[in-house]
Amino acid sequence: MIALTFDDGPHPRYTPQILEILKEYQITATFFVIGINAVNYPTAMKALIGSGCEIGNHTYNHRTLDKGKEHALDEIKKCEEQIAENIDFDVKLLRPPQGKLNAETISAANELDYNIILWSIDTLDWAHNSPQNIAKTVISSVKGGDIILMHDYVSGGSTTCEALRIIIPALMAQGYEFVTVSELIS
Ligand SMILES: [Zn+2]
Repeated sequence: MIALTFDDGPHPRYTPQILEILKEYQITATFFVIGINAVNYPTAMKALIGSGCEIGNHTYNHRTLDKGKEHALDEIKKCEEQIAENIDFDVKLLRPPQGKLNAETISAANELDYNIILWSIDTLDWAHNSPQNIAKTVISSVKGGDIILMHDYVSGGSTTCEALRIIIPALMAQGYEFVTVSELIS
């Protein structure tokens, strides 16, 4: 089992395209959303909620969570206010921006009952790599239990969708099952 994860959305262009691809292959994934994007792009957020994919917290403003406990609590809570209304959380998942965290981040996450989720494969899809290179990064190193980091928003254009069309069928052919992060960690 492996978990695909998408950070930095929702975004009106990429989130629906990715949802469409997931639907085509009848698989699920986890989206770590930024609160302010949920506010700015309600249609994309609604599509995400309607898809049945899992939704996690990626802070309100996408500021790193290593700037003190109060700041971390505020960023997590404000994002949760935007996403919680329509979601029945089984497990609350937090992905700190850039993976940056310290003892105070952990303390804030614990206080708000969140599991901190990082990743084991960084596809570097945010760095404008070709779809072939992104796919190669995943396919050459994947193993059961991996959490794969991708993005449903990349500034300046994204090749993530094209990469997914290579990665998903290749990993399916190898027998991998795509699950949500909470399914993977349970
Ligand atoms: Zn991010």
